[in-house]
Amino acid sequence: MTRHRWGEPKRFPPFKTERECLNGCGIVKVTRHESEGPRDIHWQEFWRDGEQIRSAGTPVCEPVPAPAV
Ligand SMILES: [Zn+2]
Repeated sequence: MTRHRWGEPKRFPPFKTERECLNGCGIVKVTRHESEGPRDIHWQEFWRDGEQIRSAGTPVCEPVPAPAV
């Protein structure tokens, strides 16, 4: 299985970071950190085309075919 190659993080302070896959699959990994009292909360989401991908674990990396013109 192809692994995602995450690009440079785009930071959205204070909590959020987005990384887009450089392999052309169009998936963006969103990482967030929040502090809630003494606990740090950390989670990840995966998005493509503005929609969150609901999957357990990391979605597969498959390049999206270019749209037919
Ligand atoms: Zn990918």
